[in-house]
Amino acid sequence: MSKQYQVGPIEIPEPPLLRFAEYLRAQGKRMTSQRQIIVNEVFSHHDHFDAEDLINHLRDRLAAREVSRPTIYRTLGELVEAGLLRRMILRERYVYEHQYGYPEHDHLYCQSCHQLFEFHTDALIKIREAVAREYHFTPTSHRMIIMGICADCQRKAEQSPGVSKRA
Ligand SMILES: [Zn+2]
Ligand SMILES: [Zn+2]
Repeated sequence: MSKQYQVGPIEIPEPPLLRFAEYLRAQGKRMTSQRQIIVNEVFSHHDHFDAEDLINHLRDRLAAREVSRPTIYRTLGELVEAGLLRRMILRERYVYEHQYGYPEHDHLYCQSCHQLFEFHTDALIKIREAVAREYHFTPTSHRMIIMGICADCQRKAEQSPGVSKRA
């Protein structure tokens, strides 16, 4: 999983597991031990990850048979629906991160080293409000990903000219 660039501390009014259990109950589903393992792992620290990252991570820590691949995919979808995780598309795959209790933010994505950097700026919120007002729209959220090359990668490219960047 990638290095962390966090925008702020996590303030969680109610443990994610409890919140997820409530969501499942409303859906007529049960909190299974497999779901519990996934939620505990996902909420142990803030990160940006895809399903394969999570599968590999769980495999390193547990016997692989404890949590099946389809269960991981299904549970990630449920966590998004429950408002606990947020999902974005990067390089044609889903990338997940905490939504619940985590401050609103946007991302810069380095196309060379594939790291995601988080940022928050009120200027963007002001633009969102202004655009929404113009279109008589009630905004609830937005997604913005600035694509480009991070400072580290720019420096490396300058130091070793002729070395091609990863796509
Ligand atoms: Zn980079
Ligand atoms: Zn993020």
